[in-house]
Amino acid sequence: MKILVVEDEKRLADSLADLLRSNGMEAEVAYDGGTGYEYAASGVFDLVILDVMLPVQSGLDVARRLRGDRNGTPILMLTARGELEDRISGLDAGADYYLTKPFDTGELLACVRALLRRQGEQVDVLTYGNTTLDLSTCTLSSGAEQVRLSAREFDIMRILMGAKHRNVAKEAILTKVWGYDSNADENHVEVYASFLRKKLAGIHSNVRIVAIRRQGYHLEVEEA
Ligand code: CA
Repeated sequence: MKILVVEDEKRLADSLADLLRSNGMEAEVAYDGGTGYEYAASGVFDLVILDVMLPVQSGLDVARRLRGDRNGTPILMLTARGELEDRISGLDAGADYYLTKPFDTGELLACVRALLRRQGEQVDVLTYGNTTLDLSTCTLSSGAEQVRLSAREFDIMRILMGAKHRNVAKEAILTKVWGYDSNADENHVEVYASFLRKKLAGIHSNVRIVAIRRQGYHLEVEEA
């Protein structure tokens, strides 16, 4: 699990990152909202811990921009004590949960785990439009028609169906499907996206894989 900490109080940011690492997670830190947005927009993080008061761009703006990009990474927002309005605007801006500073590290870890769990809930099938992906048999079906997916096709389709209409960066697909150390590049993602498009068309699915330049892929349901 890879977590991004966006916090301008360096000591707090670094100690949060250490805490996450000592609990078996990977952590990266950004000390201002602009950098935080850039990192989070890469789509490689499973969770973003986001302070509200930040230089360059506030945490609220970062959250709004990410959601505007259809980036669905869970956001845990940190607000100062008693700033009720901040909390409400944080949730409005797209945060999934908030914690009030100062917080207990046990409480923070519990929130992080809950958000990560929610993200990875156990399900047997994923459905979008008229199409279902069976996670145990790796088959994609639409009505009575079905097709088996190869391992890579399945991994990519699972990521896209999990994100639904939200955009997933090519880099994120590459890292999740091929891993950090592989020689695969973004062309591989494109090739597999085209295999998947053919299979979707073959079973008369109404789901389309839409590519947006420099942003990646998302799914759309084709109007009849
Ligand atoms: Ca701050």
